[in-house]
Amino acid sequence: AKLFSQDPIQFYSSDLKTASEARLRLESQLREAIAKEQLQVYLQPIYDLSSGRIVKAEALLRWFPTKDSSIGPDVFIPIAEQTGLIYPLGKWVITKVCELLTVFKQHNINIKLAMNVSPRQVSDRHLFEFIKSTAERLGVDAHKLELELTEGVLVDNYNKAQKLLNSLREMGVTIAIDDFGTGYSSLSYLKHLPIDHLKIDRSLISDIDTNEDDRAIVLAILAMATQLRLKVIAEGVETMEQQEFLKQHRCASAQGFYYAKPMPLESFIAFMK
Ligand code: C2E
Ligand code: CA
Ligand code: CA
Ligand code: CA
Repeated sequence: AKLFSQDPIQFYSSDLKTASEARLRLESQLREAIAKEQLQVYLQPIYDLSSGRIVKAEALLRWFPTKDSSIGPDVFIPIAEQTGLIYPLGKWVITKVCELLTVFKQHNINIKLAMNVSPRQVSDRHLFEFIKSTAERLGVDAHKLELELTEGVLVDNYNKAQKLLNSLREMGVTIAIDDFGTGYSSLSYLKHLPIDHLKIDRSLISDIDTNEDDRAIVLAILAMATQLRLKVIAEGVETMEQQEFLKQHRCASAQGFYYAKPMPLESFIAFMK
């Protein structure tokens, strides 16, 4: 009862103040983290469902501010996006991913590596040049690179996205639409842009056994993808039942805790042996 007797406006604004202070603190810490190399790229394998083999891995950013604490990308990526820190951070990830591909080669690990690219990076007109020059400098075959973009940037920023995607396609980089099925209702961009894969969001996969609506949406995505000659990757597969459902309906690939959690490079190399 005490809580409700408080002046709600004051309560709200003091709350807002601490939230923005916390954000500011996090921003300067993140700036430092980039400089101090407290960031790591973890790898999660992606399986081809018909052969059961690992064909790809997704690079997922991790931040370890101290030896035994970590902050998840769901917390710091949005802040990096809002503050523009995503530009240096994104470049760091691109460089790291290319370096990882050269390490894969040394270990005879012949798979693709997918990286997440956020909306603000897509609007950076130097993004393509940076990817191209980094891949060339490190001797990375561009066909080994995949970019994961959310559909929002393709709809809101259509002309820029089209130019970028065409250049990437020409170079051999493949494109996956991330979080598919959660965002925009417009699907017409799928017709005009050089897209290779749709990644079905985890939120649609998690209740696939029990929720008929989710199942219907997943089946509709799979049917549409077949017609458009797009391959589907299911994200967040946690059970054998989910895997079997996806396999039965000809989903091309899957990723999730059922197979493996994201892991650091050394563990990933051991996992691949
Ligand atoms: P996302 O791209 O949709 O990545 C999938 C998320 O689901 C990852 O969370 C992954 O660890 C998690 N996941 C995979 N399989 C399972 C599963 O079976 N069960 C459950 N519960 N979770 C699963 P993570 O690593 O915390 O990343 C969160 C988000 O942060 C990513 O979502 C992506 O949007 C963003 N992100 C991560 N790394 C980067 C990056 O390098 N650049 C950018 N721009 N964004 C990134
Ligand atoms: Ca992703
Ligand atoms: Ca997702
Ligand atoms: Ca995402």
